[in-house]
Amino acid sequence: MFRKVVLVYHSIGSKEVPAVIGAFPISLDRFKSQINLFRINDWDIESISNIHKEVSKNTVYIMSDDGTVDWCENVLPWCEKEGIITNTALITGPWLENPIYPIAHRVQIALMMKNRKFNIPKLSNEQKSYIDKMYAHEQDETRRYVKGCCNLLFDFKDASKVLDFNEEGYILIDNKQYLESDLLKQRFAKPEAYKKFKYAEYSIHTVTHKAFTGDTKDYIENEIIPCKNIILEEKLNLKDFFVLPVKPMFGAKDTDLIQPLKDIGIKGMFTNDGEWDKKSFIIERIDAKNIENYFQF
Ligand SMILES: [Zn+2]
Repeated sequence: MFRKVVLVYHSIGSKEVPAVIGAFPISLDRFKSQINLFRINDWDIESISNIHKEVSKNTVYIMSDDGTVDWCENVLPWCEKEGIITNTALITGPWLENPIYPIAHRVQIALMMKNRKFNIPKLSNEQKSYIDKMYAHEQDETRRYVKGCCNLLFDFKDASKVLDFNEEGYILIDNKQYLESDLLKQRFAKPEAYKKFKYAEYSIHTVTHKAFTGDTKDYIENEIIPCKNIILEEKLNLKDFFVLPVKPMFGAKDTDLIQPLKDIGIKGMFTNDGEWDKKSFIIERIDAKNIENYFQF
């Protein structure tokens, strides 16, 4: 039987448009060579809106999370030229009149700052072991617990205390000095930037990128539906799929979202690493950094 595999990208850098800070980028050249591997090996590249349809070949689906400027300016123009369909999971908070920037991205930037201090509070053993499990790949304790506290334990207000957002914070890149807050403002592409692409499709990724708290009603009403509405207002080619940002909060289960998402017409939720079983509502994805290793073409 033919395989259906979803790939997920985040940040992609080139000489012209460097990758955004702290988002584990790969290069545009590596992206192109990955896509070429699938082409050489006779895989189809399809829209995720067709993911539940039968395929007559091994098929790959290309997604990207968060809609950062580097993805939008490096990858989408190339895919447009090549006729490659992509799906970008968009966060709409940065587009609001009073923008809301995701804590996860503030964390990514802050962790790259020189001599940056954090206020990590005392955690219970249960909290610690949840973070250790979810961020097992983070060897450095500060990185692990800053990410864990901000993304998986605390609400916006308490996460901000951990970061103690410092307007004076700076970062040196190529001998130029950048402010933490400026980097955040420049990080996300505006809706207008997406409008020129015919082959680009979109899915829902919440307003603020906050983790699922366990309160399904609140999450659907305040994070998912408003995100969907803003993407539709911008007349972007939205597909009925949802990408869960980060892992669920301590004590929450992502499977609780399945029925409420189905009730509002969502056809699948993307989360976790791996190859999809071709039937479950929850669809796993292979991360950009693992593609060559995973496929062994
Ligand atoms: Zn995301």
